[in-house]
Amino acid sequence: MGSLNALELTARSRFFPHWLGQSVCSADTIGRIHALMDAAGLRQGIHHIYDRLKRNKALPDHGGIGVAALDGHESHTSYLQHCAGCLERTIHGKDGKADRIQFYHRQVTLMLLPAARPGSEPIRLLLDVEPQRAGEDELATALRLLARVIGFYPRAFDLVLADALYATAPFFNFLLTHGKHALTVLKDDRRHLYQDAAALFAAVAPREGAFGTRKCSWWDFPDLLSWPQVHTPVRVVRSLETHSVKRQLDGKDELKTSDWTWVTTLPVHAVSTARAVGFGHQRWDIENHGFNELVNGWHADHIYKHDPNAIECFLLIAFLAFNIFHTFFARNLKPQIRQGRTRIFWSRFMVAEIYAAINPAISP
Ligand SMILES: [Zn+2]
Repeated sequence: MGSLNALELTARSRFFPHWLGQSVCSADTIGRIHALMDAAGLRQGIHHIYDRLKRNKALPDHGGIGVAALDGHESHTSYLQHCAGCLERTIHGKDGKADRIQFYHRQVTLMLLPAARPGSEPIRLLLDVEPQRAGEDELATALRLLARVIGFYPRAFDLVLADALYATAPFFNFLLTHGKHALTVLKDDRRHLYQDAAALFAAVAPREGAFGTRKCSWWDFPDLLSWPQVHTPVRVVRSLETHSVKRQLDGKDELKTSDWTWVTTLPVHAVSTARAVGFGHQRWDIENHGFNELVNGWHADHIYKHDPNAIECFLLIAFLAFNIFHTFFARNLKPQIRQGRTRIFWSRFMVAEIYAAINPAISP
């Protein structure tokens, strides 16, 4: 619904006594309760869903490897309102205008990316979120999140995917220490590892490969020692990909190329080049299926109450709702009912049920 006010306007709906066993409370009360709520209890709720799905074999791994993706997300910015959990930055004024302090919140999120069961879409689960604290960088937030998640879900995943920001020794070593693998984008051309890999790309002919419909040239170099800060040799994989897109202007096919380089601890004997490239691309799932949907479909960036605990708890509630909704869609709806009807259709259908059960003759 996107606002607590919109919820309050539907308070007279018979939907709530039917499903909650009582009427819905006021917008003020919902905000106040979220500020006082125990986030750990909500995390247990998310774990409960994971546990049930895991026992029902609804979260298959990728040929023996459980995969999760990690990324940071900025939820909102404001010049006016701030709270004890706000981060601050100075926005320099243009054209002689004064500098201003901008307040914002950032979180790091971990999403579990199971494989699909035959004939269905995978059930992607938002496992946990950690707010970035004042004075720390995203990596420190991510390590705190990972420590909690690995303690809570020790066997849920074996591999963590992340963007180039995470191609750091502390991140790789943290995962190695916990028996997990890392795979991140490798970008920084000032690094020895990147320079060594680039020399190999120039000297060694690539192998032909394919990712979906894309034709690829692949390079794959295991056991590289040019990143000594990481407690194991690393592997660098590059995929130069060509695909054709229809130009809007004249409808003609145009060839586009994209060039990806990843660094990983995944061993060659267990994970082929093709699978490593697939994992590299899967990192986008947290962007495409996680943040995009949370923001556009679930209004998760909206600040329902500007308080650090309320923001964290509203987000965890959104994670719970997201996980339950997608589980319902994939596992509860019969295929013949699901056929041809999108998730948007079902979410509108549910909201319509709330509005349809309001008696407009009774004032709120
Ligand atoms: Zn704040």
